[in-house]
Amino acid sequence: MATSAQTRQQIEEIEPFEAAQEIDAGEVVLIDTREPHEFQESHIEGGKLVPPGVLGDEIEAAAPEKSARTIVYCRSGKRSFTAAEQMQALGYENVASMSGGILAWQEQGLPVVAVEGMTAEQRERYSRHTLLPEVGVEGQLKLLDAKVLLVGAGGLGAPAALYLAAAGIGTLGIVDDDAVDASNLQRQVIHNTERVGMPKTESARRTVEALNPDVDVVEYRTRLDASNILEIIEGFDVIVDGADNFPTRYLLNDASVRLRKPVVSASILSFDGQISTFVPHEGPCYRCLYPTPPPAELAPSCSANGVLGVMAGTMGLLQANEVIKLVLGVGEPLVGRLLLFEALGTRFTELKVRRDPECPICGESAAEVPESELGKFPDYELFCAR
Ligand SMILES: [Zn+2]
Repeated sequence: MATSAQTRQQIEEIEPFEAAQEIDAGEVVLIDTREPHEFQESHIEGGKLVPPGVLGDEIEAAAPEKSARTIVYCRSGKRSFTAAEQMQALGYENVASMSGGILAWQEQGLPVVAVEGMTAEQRERYSRHTLLPEVGVEGQLKLLDAKVLLVGAGGLGAPAALYLAAAGIGTLGIVDDDAVDASNLQRQVIHNTERVGMPKTESARRTVEALNPDVDVVEYRTRLDASNILEIIEGFDVIVDGADNFPTRYLLNDASVRLRKPVVSASILSFDGQISTFVPHEGPCYRCLYPTPPPAELAPSCSANGVLGVMAGTMGLLQANEVIKLVLGVGEPLVGRLLLFEALGTRFTELKVRRDPECPICGESAAEVPESELGKFPDYELFCAR
């Protein structure tokens, strides 16, 4: 009985430059044994795709001549070695596995056929995304094309912005009229000690630009209000709500339902956070969940009560996760679900939230807002003060 060590000796392994010479000379059948999304991202010219899972069924169609010189490659040389073993067992007489795979091939500066739409730097930067079948090159291009607005560059917006920037969200709008304060640095990790006193939008832009030059940051050094909200949110695909006050949350909800913009909303206090995703008319809105704001004594602020920085970061990253799923159109967004996180017990609890048919904003009998009234909103300060 052949041991694996003995089998191994029988498989010919060749270096990329040797493979390149043979390929140039012609008369070589070149097999790429990876998954389709990897092949799509980049492959060696002339390579025929035969994924490992279907090799037994498809190899004969790709390489009909069992006596022909055949070179197999994959990403790093492991799958192609196994494929070469399988092919030998199927009767292929002259098969070699290219050691180091297409990674080694590219490291040696040998040419590949790469997907259009991404530069070589982007292919490298986002390779851990594009390797995921759920993302792939197509998904990464969607992220690069996406426009995401962060309301607030604070406890939630700061961590969300960092990861959204790293993920390659092409346009990040940031609304904040505050300056960096030393007391922010315990959780607002996009800022730093040297930036105390700097406008938060500028500090965030500098960090994002240093992290990822693909991201275009649009600064709005202002507070969202009835006079500017439609103009600001109009151009964005998804909104991240990290507002620190109820009037802004209600205003944002009403405006986003009018313009049909999805909002990923989270809030934090002490050791507890909550998050939900509001997709207008597909699920409930913020007003369905909270018809009226809580009385002031039940809605303390982080500045009065404190907040665990790590918990704020956790919630901000959950928001970034929701945004990425919405942009890619994969997974299950938190639509109609309210997720609660208790940092002290490390517990997540999920509550179902239904659309309220009586909701004054998104309910069946909600008044149609005529075009001329689109930019007019009730007084939310007053609404929240009641
Ligand atoms: Zn509603």
